[in-house]
Amino acid sequence: MTYLPGENRYQGMLYNRCGRSGVQLPAISLGLWHNFGGIDIYENSRSMVLRAFDLGITHFDLANNYGPPSGSAEQTFGRILRDDLKAYRDELIISTKAGYYMWPGPYGDGGSRKYLLASLDQSLRRMGLEYVDIFYSHRYDPKTPIEETMAALDQAVKQGKALYAGISSYDVEETAKAASILRNMGTSCLIHQPKYNMLERWIEDGLQDLLEQEGVGSIVFCPLAQGLLTNRYLKGIPGDSRAARTGGFLKANDVTQDLVEKLNELGAIALDRGQSLAQMAVAWVLRGGKVTSALIGASKTSQIEDNVRALANLQFSDEELARIDGILLG
Ligand code: NDP
Repeated sequence: MTYLPGENRYQGMLYNRCGRSGVQLPAISLGLWHNFGGIDIYENSRSMVLRAFDLGITHFDLANNYGPPSGSAEQTFGRILRDDLKAYRDELIISTKAGYYMWPGPYGDGGSRKYLLASLDQSLRRMGLEYVDIFYSHRYDPKTPIEETMAALDQAVKQGKALYAGISSYDVEETAKAASILRNMGTSCLIHQPKYNMLERWIEDGLQDLLEQEGVGSIVFCPLAQGLLTNRYLKGIPGDSRAARTGGFLKANDVTQDLVEKLNELGAIALDRGQSLAQMAVAWVLRGGKVTSALIGASKTSQIEDNVRALANLQFSDEELARIDGILLG
């Protein structure tokens, strides 16, 4: 059936400026790491992307290797673009990345110019796009001079194959170097994509201050700790959950008794705030306005709807923050 986006799609979303750039990103973006691959049910993947767009989620995050199999999430997204979202390309921010293993031999992994630019061409073909909005170095590669990796991002932008450059999971020192090199080439670093959630707070230790100084935005991945910071695992490991799937990074034995107790305590705070645990986890990464966007994943449209409702309460009292810290750090 022909898709027509919701007319009110821009009314319920919050848009945050990405660093010192002209671009605004939705406070909640959708990532296609899991549940959009060739092994997944296309109709479900399509429904999630379209529902997200209806809710004002204008940013979709991909990478060359998302699937499985690798590359297939970009194919799925390309199909949705072609069939449903073609008319709305200019309302979308689409990102992709290269940096992890993608193809055999010496040129399909890492941070070389050879790999990044060949991979970007492949990503564009899979998605049927002329350009992506953001192209990322997916991780710092200590074996490639950082100048070479940044020059590849700069070239992608200057060729018009990407509108902006980004880096992911670079530490503080690597980020400072990357931002400075890019600036000197005339292509500023738009955005950093680090992991951040209530259970993993490393970006508070210097990275956030640096990004602020440099005018670089941030989009944080795994704000729900892959689903741990939700009600998903409070009563065991559901068969349709990520922890039950084989081959992923979240393992059943990550769901420890100790963690479940803490999640229950966090759930009580969420309840007092009128939120689900997932909503509180999303609100928590966005608190105080330091993070541009929370990059969620989902396996069902209802999860996206639940998470977007987090925007109704992004304020935390000092007491709530102290209670959360007491549970997780105490
Ligand atoms: P999340 O931490 O948001 O976890 C998503 C999972 O949480 C879902 O698949 C679902 O699990 C569960 N979930 C989501 N919402 C709810 C809800 N309301 N109630 C209950 N359960 C819920 O993020 P991801 O780990 O999926 O990562 C998000 C994106 O970040 C990726 O798609 C990718 O774009 C990016 N990313 C980037 C990386 C990088 O190196 N730059 C690395 C990893 C991710 P279930 O499937 O069990 O239902």
